[in-house]
Amino acid sequence: MDQQPSLFNTDPRPWNLHDQDDWIVARVAFSAAPYGPYDYSIPAELEKIVTLGIRVAVPIGRGNRSMEGYCVDIITAAHPLGSSVNRNRLKPITSVLDKKSLITTGLLELAKWISEYYLCPLGTVIDTIVPPSVRNQSGTREIQFLSLAPEIQKQIAINQLDDLKLSKLQITILQTLGGTAQDWTPNELAESVGCTIVPISTLRKRGLIIATSRRVQQKTHEIASEKRIDDLDLNPEQQTALDAINHHIESNTHQTFLMHGVTGSGKTEVYIRAIQTAVEFGRQAIVLVPEISLTPQTRQRFRARFDNVAVLHSHLTAAQRAWHWQQIAAGHVQVIVGARSAIFAPTPNLGLIVLDEEHDGSFKQDNAPRYHARDVAECRAAQEKIPQILGSATPSLETWQRAIDGQYKKISLTKRVLDLPLPDVATIDLRIDFDGRKRFGPISQKLRQEIQSALSDGGQVILLLNRRGFSTRIQCPDCGEVEYCPDCSIPLTHHQEGDKAVCHYCDHQIPNPKKCSKCGNPSIRFSGLGTQKLEQTVAALFPDVPIMRMDTDTMRKPGSHEKALAQFRAGETKILLGTQMIAKGLDFPNVTLVGVINADTALHLPDFRASERTFGLITQVAGRTGRGSKGGRVLVQTFNPENKAIVSATTHDYIGFASTELPHRAAFHYPPFGHLARIVVRSPSVAHAEQMADHIAETIAAEAKELKLEINVLGPAVAPVEKLRGNYRFHILIGALAPLALQQVISRAGQRIQEIDDVQWIVDIDPQDMV
Ligand code: ADP
Ligand code: ZN
Repeated sequence: MDQQPSLFNTDPRPWNLHDQDDWIVARVAFSAAPYGPYDYSIPAELEKIVTLGIRVAVPIGRGNRSMEGYCVDIITAAHPLGSSVNRNRLKPITSVLDKKSLITTGLLELAKWISEYYLCPLGTVIDTIVPPSVRNQSGTREIQFLSLAPEIQKQIAINQLDDLKLSKLQITILQTLGGTAQDWTPNELAESVGCTIVPISTLRKRGLIIATSRRVQQKTHEIASEKRIDDLDLNPEQQTALDAINHHIESNTHQTFLMHGVTGSGKTEVYIRAIQTAVEFGRQAIVLVPEISLTPQTRQRFRARFDNVAVLHSHLTAAQRAWHWQQIAAGHVQVIVGARSAIFAPTPNLGLIVLDEEHDGSFKQDNAPRYHARDVAECRAAQEKIPQILGSATPSLETWQRAIDGQYKKISLTKRVLDLPLPDVATIDLRIDFDGRKRFGPISQKLRQEIQSALSDGGQVILLLNRRGFSTRIQCPDCGEVEYCPDCSIPLTHHQEGDKAVCHYCDHQIPNPKKCSKCGNPSIRFSGLGTQKLEQTVAALFPDVPIMRMDTDTMRKPGSHEKALAQFRAGETKILLGTQMIAKGLDFPNVTLVGVINADTALHLPDFRASERTFGLITQVAGRTGRGSKGGRVLVQTFNPENKAIVSATTHDYIGFASTELPHRAAFHYPPFGHLARIVVRSPSVAHAEQMADHIAETIAAEAKELKLEINVLGPAVAPVEKLRGNYRFHILIGALAPLALQQVISRAGQRIQEIDDVQWIVDIDPQDMV
């Protein structure tokens, strides 16, 4: 049996085995079909070592195939589940796979919540919480440690080794080994005494030295230290924020804070100071960021302020990941900085959770379990009775509404630090530009001139191309009007096949319009542009200027991002162009111009969050400039300069944006006013996919009726991405006003749905991605 090093001090045997308990049953969940959970009896010899969360091997099915699972409940007669257990003919657990559970009881509780809320098998959730590298003991090695046999220990103590007829060397070896409390490996001992391994082996053969083997984690990772930086003097707004948070750290009470602060208002500085408070109390902090590989600066800032920072980024090897995990579990790490999965860090005594850029879509996982780190964090913070900070310049409307409702406490940082002004943002109306005067492909005349003058003044330029958009929306080049679905307020998508316009939420269809429904212009069009094409255009316009493109295609290699940003910081690159990736968190004082090539693509995605995303993206990228003494300027190219999302972004008016967008959400019962689930059905056979989608939608509607729950089933409709990797896709949107109604209906319906062989379907609760 492989043994894991001991990790936790929490009591994994919270039940009490009294004499009157005449039975005990283990409930076991699996991370693969048939998932379970199933009940097993515990053989007497295993009773003492089966604990909550521990991995076990059990027989499954008629053939008693052996399968690995997690013990997720231990049930006795007195347990609340005690009366529900059927103890007839339970099979016994075969063996226990770990010495101690890899998951704390607290994280097991969190796993159960995730499983129930996101409708994902519990075993799969636990597999997500405990990294595979830890389960496989990556980077560990079996090592032998030597100790003296007990009789020899006594004899050495009273100096009576004479009877044993030992050589002088052998006595030295025994005395060295007995002389310290240290664990010696054979090689270390030989080296210390100055002999070979041979005399040590002889003593082992004679039974005077005993060897025991233990699995240890190899140190695989040096933590780079940064130059220490002193605390800054907080401004009054920062100080007020810190005081409010510290109060909850000190009193050990849960509270979620929304820290709403414009870009560069010093939010990170407040996080650091609050974490210092937690660390002074001997606690750890988890800091979640959208993608740590993209923000080397964040990493440095934390390392410059704390002794032990674990940065969990996507390029760690399995052994490094396992090592970090062990360090965190042992309580050696003060601050854990990482992407969404860092919320599962096995900290023994968590004191604070921070989500920076809380609005970011990457906090939602897009495979099972499809959890949102913000909501998991909320659950964990409540469980551990600690505060949580959600920071953003453009909070998600879900979070904003919770702050309005008083569930979250709002703290505002209204100014940039050191009285730096926010950059001046102007729009370039592409309708006018389109209409006559010169255009250089995707770059308008005006933007070209501004790039030229920024470069002549020695500044640097960032150009954002939001590629998330589709080329299939239907838009009038004259007036900018986009065709929308009358029932869903979602832009219609152009389909060449059948020459029609389709709503991807409810499947409303009309023939493709031949002219603009607003101004009558007959030349309606569909546009599309990629970063590569943009790069070519810019290179042709500015032939001698060093340009760098940054998108998922060019940034595949580990470290390429850091390298590219270092070049840009050093001024070797003058123009940085790319996708969303460049909008996040970068701090380059010499950037004096930001150009947004196409503000509209995100605006007309078939997604109810389209306006919110557009507003957020423009605001975030605008925040990349004006960070130095030279100031900064932002130019936004758009066909919709009067659109509320764009106007609000140009005036840095989050509150104005939220107050016009929220009533719109309320009218359609979209989040934050209702709950949504999305079911995606896919199959290589379009007929089967459609048949299954219909069946699922009908079953859910019927189940809702039976349960008398108010549920709104939209669709099935063809998914915006109709075909993906050879699979046809349909989706169903399900809305409800009551919390947990969706979970109830969908899990009940799930038991009635008849599967079709080549069809797969998934459930996404609180979906972020609608394509
Ligand atoms: P945000 O996280 O809101 O974008 P940061 O915390 O990154 O803001 O702060 C922006 C810049 O201002 C950083 O360079 C930071 O070191 C600096 N800064 C933050 N707070 C202060 C302060 N109180 N005094 C001086 N400089 C500060
Ligand atoms: Zn519709």
